[in-house]
Amino acid sequence: MTDLVDSVFSLFGLKLPLKFIYANEYWMVDLGPHIFPIKKYRMLYEKVIALGARAEDFIKPEPASNDDLLLVHTPGYVNKVRSGTLSSLETQALEMPYSPKVVRFFLLMTGGTIKAAEEALRSGLAVHLGGGFHHAFPDHGEGFCLFNDVAIALEKMKREGRIKRALIIDGDLHQGNGTAYIFSKKDYVFTFSIHQKDIYPSCKPASNLDVDLWSGDNDEAYLKALEPHIPRLYEECKPDLVIYIAGADPYQKDMLSGLDLSASGLRKRDRLVIEQARRLKIPLAIVLGGGYADEIEETVDIHLNTIKEAIRASRRGAQQLVASLISSK
Ligand SMILES: [Zn+2]
Repeated sequence: MTDLVDSVFSLFGLKLPLKFIYANEYWMVDLGPHIFPIKKYRMLYEKVIALGARAEDFIKPEPASNDDLLLVHTPGYVNKVRSGTLSSLETQALEMPYSPKVVRFFLLMTGGTIKAAEEALRSGLAVHLGGGFHHAFPDHGEGFCLFNDVAIALEKMKREGRIKRALIIDGDLHQGNGTAYIFSKKDYVFTFSIHQKDIYPSCKPASNLDVDLWSGDNDEAYLKALEPHIPRLYEECKPDLVIYIAGADPYQKDMLSGLDLSASGLRKRDRLVIEQARRLKIPLAIVLGGGYADEIEETVDIHLNTIKEAIRASRRGAQQLVASLISSK
């Protein structure tokens, strides 16, 4: 039956029910010599095109509005960012040079995660080729994160009455401190973070569930720590939307990582998170998070693996539909 279904797919060139959110401007910011691999966005986009994605498979985001930012950030902070009056200490905490182009980058990224959330609610699954800036707090940015795109997207969906419950699965190497803090007093979001404990951020406000890993932990240790929680959290939280931060930085050759995860271990992580959400028909928006491998290609390939797992999961749903149509004849 699978062969027959695959033939039907290739014969009719059936489109995948999966949209990507991306803006060409993402990679056009000059950060000077900086560890943040801004070109990964463009490289990933090109690889997604090479996988067969067509122009109509991409949604271009609008920059987030001031009202969007104020759903999470304080008016004082938003004013300072907009007017270029962050103090040198505040810029230091951000660990990125400040410029109007950097602000524009983060506004677009925030708009992109909002679009991904909307698209996931519409179609079940969406991938933002960006996003995941989970270290931003209401009143300050830090760790390469100016605005908390994930928190803003969820607050917007909640205010608009599109969701009642949400779940964040944060698979970035670093604990999601900003997101954990923002939602610590809002019980409609359950925050889950699996990360290396003995690195940045030094202060880790508690998520609803933090799973700590340690320098040297490998694929086996990581998956053993993750598996008891997926799909359990999906079943217990019953979220209307999951945002998955699929960080590429837990990778063994990442410059910031002490973990010993292989690309294939990370892909197993992605498969578990994505496949189980699809199986339970929970809308899932995927954002990239960090990735700082010495060879930028390796970071891009890990992000691409996440996308391949998303395509695989969405194709499986469509295949089941085609198979049921065929068998009902
Ligand atoms: Zn990270």
